[in-house]
Amino acid sequence: MDFTGAHILSIDQFEQPDIERIFRVADAMEPYASRRRVTRVLEGAILGNMFFEPSTRTRVSFGCAFNLLGGEVRETTGFESSAIAKGESLYDTARVLSGYSDVICMRHPQNGSVAEFAEASRVPVINGGDGSNEHPSQALLDLYTIRKELAAKGKGLNGLRIAMIGDLKHGRTVHSLCRLLALYQNLQVTLVSPTELAMPEYLVELMRKAGHQVQVTDELTASISKVDIAYSTRIQEERFTSKQEADLYRGRFRLNQQIYTQFCEPNTVIMHPLPRDSRAEANELDNDLNANPNLAIFRQTDNGILVRMALFALVLDVVDLVDKHAREVRWHSSR
Ligand code: ASP
Repeated sequence: MDFTGAHILSIDQFEQPDIERIFRVADAMEPYASRRRVTRVLEGAILGNMFFEPSTRTRVSFGCAFNLLGGEVRETTGFESSAIAKGESLYDTARVLSGYSDVICMRHPQNGSVAEFAEASRVPVINGGDGSNEHPSQALLDLYTIRKELAAKGKGLNGLRIAMIGDLKHGRTVHSLCRLLALYQNLQVTLVSPTELAMPEYLVELMRKAGHQVQVTDELTASISKVDIAYSTRIQEERFTSKQEADLYRGRFRLNQQIYTQFCEPNTVIMHPLPRDSRAEANELDNDLNANPNLAIFRQTDNGILVRMALFALVLDVVDLVDKHAREVRWHSSR
């Protein structure tokens, strides 16, 4: 695909060579993300970061990625502080805000809303999560992480065994990840959730059509015993009608060090898009896994910077200019 000026709304818009291109550019961003070099390639450019749902990682990492390329970030967070609270339409907001920015990242609680916004925008829009629909940049950083984790163990993507665990009905990160995995061949995918929170059937079908072996189950321990990646997700409480309803599912798929030792192969990589729900009653991904070297959750967040820098560099067409506007860092770096 031609990335220049393109919106990034769904994994569906990519083909496999596009993903490889994003990952190659992400690799090239490493000296900048690790603060060995600085580049001013986006000096003067403005990112409009519009987040109408809670977000820490995605919002801040898109912002940092833009800063690391030399650009500036303007933020709008929450409906209350935006004109949308006065009844302004997505169309009007998009027309106005796109006049202030060179690129926009947007998160919104309604499925399809970011695409609707993008239609009216005069600048490229990147989907930072639209309802339970998609979260494409998260899926890209997840696959980028999976590849790095496997490579460190001398393995490739071919034959990958992955379990996705938790609220697969509402989790937009796993929806995007399924679409992404469907671009590859020969994978074994196990989808572990309560029946009521199962992965939407069309996404299961999409992966089966790609030729993957897909198993759907509500049984955790058997499912994590023979996988390379155990990808856990949070119960998406905000998508339920009540907290009580969400509470019915909390703790059903707990992963802690004892369960890991008892059931997983020794090198199984643990991933999670974060935030993990650390409240005692959540019992999701316990803190006692923090010392486990196969816990990749903070490597995921680090990789997110590289992948988001790559998206900006591609969409704003500066990939070949990044190094030309670079120098060594002047400050002490602890990395
Ligand atoms: N941060 C991810 C998202 O925005 C995952 C989550 O919230 O559970 O979808």
